[in-house]
Parts: sequence; C-alpha cells; structure tokens
Amino acid sequence: MSELAYPYEAPASQALFDRAAAVTPGGVNSPVRAFRAVGGTPRFMVSGTGPYLTDADGREYVDLVCSWGPMILGHAHPEVIAAVQEAVARGTSFGTPAEGEVALAEEMVARVAPLEEVRLVSSGTEATMSAIRLARGFTQRAKVIKFAGCYHGHVDSLLAAAGSGVATFALPDTPGVTGAQAGDTIVLPYNDLEAVHAAFAAHPGEIACVITEASPGNMGVVPPLPGFNQGLKDACAANGALFISDEVMTGFRTSKAGWYGVEGVVPDLMTFGKVMGGGFPAAAFGGRADVMAHLAPAGPVYQAGTLSGNPVATAAGLAQLRLLDDAAYEKVDAVSAQIQALVTEALAKEGVAHRLQTASNMFSVFFTDRPVRNYEDAKAQESFRFTAFFHSLLAGGVYLPPSSFESWFVSTAHDERAVQRIADALPAAARAAA
Ligand code: PLP
Repeated sequence: MSELAYPYEAPASQALFDRAAAVTPGGVNSPVRAFRAVGGTPRFMVSGTGPYLTDADGREYVDLVCSWGPMILGHAHPEVIAAVQEAVARGTSFGTPAEGEVALAEEMVARVAPLEEVRLVSSGTEATMSAIRLARGFTQRAKVIKFAGCYHGHVDSLLAAAGSGVATFALPDTPGVTGAQAGDTIVLPYNDLEAVHAAFAAHPGEIACVITEASPGNMGVVPPLPGFNQGLKDACAANGALFISDEVMTGFRTSKAGWYGVEGVVPDLMTFGKVMGGGFPAAAFGGRADVMAHLAPAGPVYQAGTLSGNPVATAAGLAQLRLLDDAAYEKVDAVSAQIQALVTEALAKEGVAHRLQTASNMFSVFFTDRPVRNYEDAKAQESFRFTAFFHSLLAGGVYLPPSSFESWFVSTAHDERAVQRIADALPAAARAAA
C-alpha cells in the first residue's frame, strides 16, 4: 500500500472549510461530510450537473454519492428544475393544505401497495421518530427493537449502535441521549432472527415495534438474508407488535416501489425520504390506514410540522417520481452493474481482498474476504484500504462517500463518459488499496 493519503491540494475548499470551522462545529452541517474518517480537505461543491459535481477549486468529479441517495436522476435535471421554478414563482410556503402534497401522496400510494395512507414531513429523522411514536401510541407499549448498524436518523432512542456517521466515528452511542430515552430500545444483531425471537420471549407484551432498514446501506450495503424481513414481520404479527420498514434510503431507489418492490414483504408502517424529495427536504411515513388513523387530528397521537408538505419540495419530489418509470430503473440498474464490474475487476487484478455487496442498484465495497452479514462483520473490514482507495479516486476525479460504512449511489445521468472516468481512475486506486 502506498503511503500517501492526499495526492493533491484543494486550496479554495480548504479556505472555505477554515471559514466554516470558525462558525460551525467541525466546519460542517452533517458529520460525515467532514472527511474525518478518510482525512484531507472536504470538497466544497459549487454546482452539480448530471453525474458531475464541481468543487470550489474548479475540479469536476463523477459523483457516486448523489447527495447520499436522493439525486437518482442526476444533478439539476431540467424537468425537476422547471417544476421547482414554477412552484417557487407561486410562493414558497403557505402553511395550509395545497394540491402538490396531495399529488405527491397519491403518487407514493399508487406505487407502494402497503402504503394506504401517508403523512409528509421534512426529514428521514422526523419520519422514523414519528413512526415510532405512532407505533407506541397504537400498541400502548414502550419498547422498540432496532438492529446494530442500522441508521434511522438522529432520533434519540435510535442512536444506539447506529450506522452511518455513528459507525464512521466509532461511537458506541452519543452523549445527550438519556438512559430513559435509550432504555426502551433493544439493539439486536442484524440478520439474526433467533435474537429477535428471544427478545420477544424475554419481553412479552412490551414490544411496540421492530424497526429495520428495508435493506441496510448505513453500515455499507448489507442486504437482508432470504426470509429475514418476512421473519421480522411474522414475529411482530405473532406478538402484537408493528413491523416498521425504513425505506428512507431504499424507497423509490431500489425499484419503482423501493425495497418492498424487490422483496414483497408487507410492513405495517414504512418511512421514506431522499428520492421522494427530489433534492429538497421532504420525507414521509405511512402504511396501514387503521394505524395511521391514530394520528392527530383524527386520532390522539400528535405529530406536526410548519414546513411539512412544502410546496417547492413536493413539486420537486413529484417531478422526480414521475420521471422514474421502468426504463429509468433499468438504466440505473445497468450502469450500477457496469460500475460494480469495473470495481471488482480492478481490485481483483491487484489481488485486493474485497466483497462488493449489492441491494439492487445500491452497492458498496468492503475490504475483507468474508461475507458481511451484520455490523460486526462490517467493522472487521480493513478500512485503511478504503482510505487509500478513496483518495486515489478523488484525485482521479471520482467522488465516493468519505466512509467505508456507506452505500454508493448512481443515477440515470451516469453515462458512458462518466463510467469511462471511473474506469480510468480505478487501476491506480486498486494499487493504492493493495
Ligand atoms: N433512515 C435511513 C435508512 C437513512 O439512511 C437516513 C439518512 O441517511 C435516515 C433515516 C435519516 O434521514 P435524514 O438524514 O433525512 O434525517
């Protein structure tokens, strides 16, 4: 493995990062953006077009992060931009119901069969927080089962053994979450149904819900073993608990109907974000109508939001979803498979032990020779190889998530030129990781 870590400088980004650090904790508004795990200067982006991002130093990158999932049509898609401009010109927030939010909800409900009703919110964190509150209100129970390595946003009770940034920074949990808030959370190993059955047996009548990423991408991509999600659903049904499938990352990305469209397991509640907002802050939770009926104003479980169903965000989300037809998913799946093959080929050529794991068009690489089925497996990877691989690709004009605990994302805009850039940069990156 080569020594170096940061093959070139990024003076304009560094100057912005210095300015940011003076007024913002760690210089960023979301921790993983800070490059802490990989080192070096986080790139401050000034524009995005199709599969490319351009940073403050004028360097262009093929983007394999896609804003952590949402930009499935690429950056600045003309039809999404036109819908946003049209909506903005009519006003940015009304604080009243508006047709756009109805249309977005209708589009979602039409695509995802178990989604009988949906409530719009502004972030995935809000969606999972609200779904848990609703599950507790509906079942009149307190305890929640979650899985180590799954990330459901920065909800107090769900930050135990969470993936994404919590995994990147190796935090067991976070100060600021009280024992009372975390005390009703039962954290179990992912892909382990026996552990789930044992938890239900140990806490009869106490478990409100099981929440899981539909197919996890926040410890890297670790898909559910065959039967795992159905087993969760069955265990919940047998014990009077609700099964919550968190599709914030997978929703409208892994298929037209998200991971539900891939596997067909019917959850009681689901959560969404990312793709459904078209790059704006829109998210949602929904599911069984009899459960959703417990939400205010019809029911007693309170949940609200000043900017929920924001007209600009709903216009962006609706425009994006309407463009996501079968042909669009075929395109994303195909380019994802093409890039996966290039990565595997380059690493194999250099004899670098790795596992490339996929969930439909989501994928990530673990630097290990063993299959990764849970968070413990994911943590056993040789992340230092990822660091070298990441920086070499960055120097070659390819932008990966700056952590080995994240999924990579592609879009319909990733064309031959973008794929060629990746192909050109991979041999050096594979050598750096060797
Ligand atoms: N759930 C999952 C599966 C996620 O991947 C994320 C974010 O990455 C969230 C919830 C939280 O969403 P947000 O960052 O919009 O709060």
